[in-house]
Amino acid sequence: MEGDESTTIMCTILAIDYANLTYKACPVCERTQLDSSSSPSNLSSVCKFCDSKSLNPPSSSSSFKRLFRLLMSIATDTKVITVVCFDRVARVLFGCCADEFFDFAKLHPLSGPKVNEILEGEMFTMTLSKPKKGNARHLRVVSAIPLRTGFKPAIEALREYHRR
Ligand SMILES: [Zn+2]
Repeated sequence: MEGDESTTIMCTILAIDYANLTYKACPVCERTQLDSSSSPSNLSSVCKFCDSKSLNPPSSSSSFKRLFRLLMSIATDTKVITVVCFDRVARVLFGCCADEFFDFAKLHPLSGPKVNEILEGEMFTMTLSKPKKGNARHLRVVSAIPLRTGFKPAIEALREYHRR
């Protein structure tokens, strides 16, 4: 693979790094927000880049966004690789947005490990692309299509599990 071309593969999920499934992002540009980034004098949660650009920070959407970013190991027919999966694709696996999952996980603290169990062994057709930025280490999943007909997104399986 050279340049920024992408490959489509069939693979099985081996494990998900469930300790870090979501992150806080600037509501404007979606850059990662550090927890301590907003100073007390600044109630808006836009990042320092957006803050300096705009004199009128968005009022209604002033809270940070929570987005998915997950690292997972997948097995192809020849090798095991670690890939990173961002919000749009992660929603396919989870069946909900990051905020919804985060709130669910607050009520059910074992949701992380459970998600790992739920998704382990699921087969997907994934399209992977090489990171465009030099500092990104992992191949990025640009699309994931479940191969199993009865595939249930993680949040559905979790809700069923907790209903028992
Ligand atoms: Zn920003």
